[in-house]
Formats: sequence, C-alpha cells, structure tokens
Amino acid sequence: MEVSTEDYLKALFHLQEESGPSVKTNALSEKLHISPSAVTDMLKKLAAKKYVTYAPYRGVTLTKEGRAIGCNIVRRHRILELYLHQKLGYSWDQVHAEAEQLEHAASDDLIQKMEAALGFPHFDPHGDPIPRIDGTLPVQSALRLSEGQKGRDYVVMRVSDLDAQFLHHLSGVGVVLQAKIQIKEILSFDRSLIISVGEQTHAISYFTAKHIWVAPEG
Ligand SMILES: [Zn+2]
Repeated sequence: MEVSTEDYLKALFHLQEESGPSVKTNALSEKLHISPSAVTDMLKKLAAKKYVTYAPYRGVTLTKEGRAIGCNIVRRHRILELYLHQKLGYSWDQVHAEAEQLEHAASDDLIQKMEAALGFPHFDPHGDPIPRIDGTLPVQSALRLSEGQKGRDYVVMRVSDLDAQFLHHLSGVGVVLQAKIQIKEILSFDRSLIISVGEQTHAISYFTAKHIWVAPEG
C-alpha cells in the first residue's frame, strides 16, 4: 500500500478520535498540510477503493476496512514510539519523527514481537492509547488542562506528540506523564494559566494547556 494512502487513513483515524465520525475536508487538509483540492482528489480515490465514504460538502467517514488500516498504522506508530523510548533510550521528543518513518516499513510480525517485549502496554510515551490488534482501544478518562479549575490538583495523563519543541518545553518545566500539577490562576483575558509543578510555578499559554490532558487528583 502507498504511504500516502496509509497517511490519509491514519489522519482520518486521528480526526475521528478527536471529534467524531464525520470529518470535514478542511480539517483533513489542515492536518496533512495539503491543499483542499488535492485532498478532494485523494478522497475520491479512497472512496473508489471503499476505504471511505465521501460526499462533497458533507464530510468523510472511514469504512470498516479504512478504519482497520488507519488504526493499524496508529498502533504501529505508538508501539514503535514506546519501543524506541523504553528499549533504546530515545527521549519523548525524539520518538515521533522516527516512528513516522518506521510505521510504514515495519512488518506486523515485528510490531507484535515489540508489543510482547514491552509487555502488552496500554499507552505510548505521550500517554496516547495503543490500539490492540483487534482494533479496540484502552480507555482513558482525561480532560484538557485548559478545562481545569483554579485551585484543583491534577495528574498529567497525555500530551500532544505533534511537535518536538513543544515536548521539549514541557519536560523542561517538569510537565511529564504522571506529574502533579495545581492550577494556581486562570487569567481571564487570554485564558493562560499559572500552574505549580513540584516546587516551581510556571505560566503556560492557553494553546499549551489545550494540548495537555489531565485527570483530577483525589
Ligand atoms: Zn505518541
């Protein structure tokens, strides 16, 4: 299968995970950094192969077969990331770029052996759930830190893995998985937050807070 087909189905799987079954062409175009007209052409091809159902202006939905492929690429990506992190010592801001390449090349057999070597883990180094071989996902209940309340304590469950600099910044201020955070202040004019992590206090933007998922503590 072509890498581009796999990338489209993966992107659709991600967008469905974020915001429900029907995906807007624009959202897909933004995610892939590809023009809307090129996206539309590709969607027609994917629809002809029965990977998606697509009607102009009504959005696109993965078929069962399309979802299975997208889900499998995400599964490969997250197992590879965890393997690179746990077994080879890559930091959490280095694993994504490597996994982007390897996810298309690794065989299913290799992925299954890595999964077993890791002890059938549920989450990757960013807290993203790892789809099981049957296409089901471990359940994770978390909210965006941007939706948290002043004065409450939270535990970091998941962070967005899309930007290495973002991840580097987070670990620099102690925001790592399982770190405890308290929201000290929510600034009403731009919704940025003052948080405490351990002994330290940091200001973080609304954008950053939106890309960190937490669970209330206690
Ligand atoms: Zn990840």
